[in-house]
Amino acid sequence: MRTAVYPGSFDPVTNGHLNIIERAAKLFDRVIVCVLVNCEKTPLFTLEEREKLLRSVTAHLPNVTVDSNEGLLAEYARKHHCCTIIKGLRAGSDFEKEFQMAMINRKLNPELESLFLTAEHQYMYLSSSAVKEMGLYGADLSDFLPAQIMNEFENKIKNIVNHKEEQT
Ligand code: ADP
Repeated sequence: MRTAVYPGSFDPVTNGHLNIIERAAKLFDRVIVCVLVNCEKTPLFTLEEREKLLRSVTAHLPNVTVDSNEGLLAEYARKHHCCTIIKGLRAGSDFEKEFQMAMINRKLNPELESLFLTAEHQYMYLSSSAVKEMGLYGADLSDFLPAQIMNEFENKIKNIVNHKEEQT
């Protein structure tokens, strides 16, 4: 049984992420989508909310499970018998950082491969942060966010806008 782990912030999951998950699910017996706690980022959605959104958009993929992890990814992979880390590679910006992470993870766990799937052209410039910014300005995000999570995303943005208005 070949298991891959696909790590990220997924704050929130976008169609770009979902495209990578669907392609990885065809390549491996099992894919664990792992929400990572990133100390450098202040998330819009809590860890539990991000996991819930991921579960709802991957419900059609029987070999995909969702989990979260606060520790080292290389250790997580070892513990869960993952042979591969899946990464999505977007135009330009991801390469340097991902190359470095792949080197570090391989050093920490030499059994572990990193596999890079190139982003689909329509999602090449899509990121969760761009979606959040566009959301704040009321842009139509139907091409970028899975339909199942649209309501929750819009509600979260509304709460932020209302909160900001109350403070001014
Ligand atoms: P971000 O917050 O930058 O959107 P995440 O930390 O959630 O990114 O990303 C998790 C993984 O998904 C990373 O490997 C990232 O390169 C990849 N990824 C993010 N957005 C896309 C996209 N639009 N297409 C393909 N891969 C993506």
